[in-house]
Amino acid sequence: MQFVIFHFQKYLMKTFSIAIHGGAGTLVKGMMTPELEANYKLALKTALETGYKLLENGKTAVDAVEEAVKVLEDSPLFNAGKGSVFTAKESHEMDACIMEGKTLNAGAVSLVSGIKNPIRLSRDVMEKSEHVFLAGEGAMEFANELGYKLEDDDYFYDEFRHKQWLEIKDTDSFQLDHSTKKDSKFGTVGAVACDQNGNIAAATSTGGMTNKKWGRVGDSPMVGAGNYANNKTCAISCTGSGEFFIKGVVAYDVACLMEHKGMGLKDASNEVINKRILEIGGDGGLIAVDSKGNIAMPFNTEGMYRASKSSTGKEEVSIYKD
Ligand code: ASP
Repeated sequence: MQFVIFHFQKYLMKTFSIAIHGGAGTLVKGMMTPELEANYKLALKTALETGYKLLENGKTAVDAVEEAVKVLEDSPLFNAGKGSVFTAKESHEMDACIMEGKTLNAGAVSLVSGIKNPIRLSRDVMEKSEHVFLAGEGAMEFANELGYKLEDDDYFYDEFRHKQWLEIKDTDSFQLDHSTKKDSKFGTVGAVACDQNGNIAAATSTGGMTNKKWGRVGDSPMVGAGNYANNKTCAISCTGSGEFFIKGVVAYDVACLMEHKGMGLKDASNEVINKRILEIGGDGGLIAVDSKGNIAMPFNTEGMYRASKSSTGKEEVSIYKD
């Protein structure tokens, strides 16, 4: 009898799923040592499992994406949280956004420093303020009022990223992370998930671009550009050349193609990444889920750190194109 009930429950349960990314770019096979590649895969797998377990235990998509992103923010391998790139002033300015597809509630922060997990702060903006987007000093004041402890510069120091910065620090150029070729690699992190109730959510976090100045903000913390969730269509987290992703309103564009043209998740995501964003000169990728638990992870660069897992049993942890 118990066996029958178990299988009946399983039959009733909706598909739940999660996808994560750690940035896209010129990630070509053989470029990394096998050890480094294994480290990346392990970090992706750990973040994936953290989020998936929460979904399996009946937690919300918002919980799953926040926790998965936190794991990536705590790793020095990715350009977010601990591994954030250096600005022109040798500091770190981080951006993050979280959005809930059921309510369209969203929270975002930009140009914050010393915050271990900017994604946590953006969730606090969503849940504990009347606003959607807090930036710079004001965002730091908000964090302070909530009792956030600030990490010192040492916490965010990474030799590799410091070297990347030293190479271009006295120039006017700025550089996307993980780059051998300038402007070709992105290290932002993100997660999208669909929970057991068919609610979806998206979270994105980044240190932005090496040597950025003038308070430059990319697409990652912007609702509709680098991050978006709406139960009616999809949850999206992007990585790529932020300026183009803002101009292309990429995440919302995928949602629009689904809502107004009736396209499915895969076709809509592909159309935007492999056609529309390329047409305006943007490169990068995105991860997407819909409220049925379908997943898409297209990118138009050589590779994208990515992983996904669904209750249907499908699982993937990949870096390169095939
Ligand atoms: N999209 C991010 C930005 O422009 C960069 C990235 O994806 O790594 O800030």
